[in-house]
Amino acid sequence: MLRCATNRWGKRLKWEIDEKAGVPAIRTRMITASPRRAQYVADENPAAACNPAETDSAPPRNLRRWQQLWRDAVVDPHELLELLDLGHLAATLLPAGDTGFALRVPHGFVARMRRGDAADPLLLQVLPQAAELLDVAGFIPDAVGDLAARAASGVLQKYHGRALLIATGSCAVHCRYCFRRHFPYAEETAAANGWRDAVGHIRGDTGIDEVILSGGDPLALSTPKLAELSDALASVPHLRRLRIHTRLPVVLPERVDEEFGAWLRQLPWPVAVVLHANHANEIDGGVADACARLRANGASLLNQSVLLRGINDTVTALAALSERLFDCGVIPYYLHQLDHVAGAAHFAVNDAAARDLIEALRRRISGYLVPRLVRETAGEPGKTLL
Ligand code: SF4
Repeated sequence: MLRCATNRWGKRLKWEIDEKAGVPAIRTRMITASPRRAQYVADENPAAACNPAETDSAPPRNLRRWQQLWRDAVVDPHELLELLDLGHLAATLLPAGDTGFALRVPHGFVARMRRGDAADPLLLQVLPQAAELLDVAGFIPDAVGDLAARAASGVLQKYHGRALLIATGSCAVHCRYCFRRHFPYAEETAAANGWRDAVGHIRGDTGIDEVILSGGDPLALSTPKLAELSDALASVPHLRRLRIHTRLPVVLPERVDEEFGAWLRQLPWPVAVVLHANHANEIDGGVADACARLRANGASLLNQSVLLRGINDTVTALAALSERLFDCGVIPYYLHQLDHVAGAAHFAVNDAAARDLIEALRRRISGYLVPRLVRETAGEPGKTLL
């Protein structure tokens, strides 16, 4: 079955979807124009990705501090290399626009990278690499079956009792391994129609007791926009929990400001904030303070990370991450095996090596600091414990 969609840069894409009886669309493949490489997006509109959601048209004087920092992010790979004294590597950069997934990284995150180190684990997460152009068998645009799990506009329903809202397509940082790097955000956002379709779907299904805000990064939305959503959800009697999946407190901790804290405090449900940090070096004093503010405003904090080759695939790196997280009051919850999304194959660690790492980690640190090694498989009713 052919399906057309528009990605976050407004590019029209064609998808071929295979359906099996009772298991909808578990295998999805992008139709590419080039046999040499997956040319998913030939052009892009950087402006669309350069601003936090809902503030694109706001005059600069009205921006919150975090929104200004967001706008000031590094989007030029050459500038990033210069900032890190790595300008001599410019010739090896992936030409701008080749993958349609632009560089984006806030200055505060760049400041945590080691100058002069081309193998810095934070740099490798954000720097566009030539390896992204490789067409690797099994690595596809919709690696986790998101499109098949669509239940309403911007609503994905994969697991019993939980509805995931694609709140926005914006992110403060563009992670090269992102499993939604090809997601058609322009068509699938729960914020459309003032959240009406999304909230209507949740209200109509009394089996849903937990809403997960995802994206993109839901904290890219302004706090008033989040309040608009929570006000609408507050009228749904069967909701018992709210979960927020976000990388913003890690990459731009200024996002956890007074206004956001006040919103968090008055929510009528217990709230779990699931952070996303992959390396201990990501967690500096500013991130620790943001975690403290989240906790002070009533949130329970968990972390999910992705096992990434050359970045955190050592026992030392994983132990340091878990210990640093716990220092900040964050439980290391999941360590994800990489989702097989097109353009990210160079980050993959094989299952045997991943299991060995977890075993070695168990021998090194306390059991409660060892995250669960999991994989998400399209069409499965839950994550698979490896
Ligand atoms: S913050 Fe999350 S959704 Fe955004 S690019 Fe990174 S992994 Fe993807």
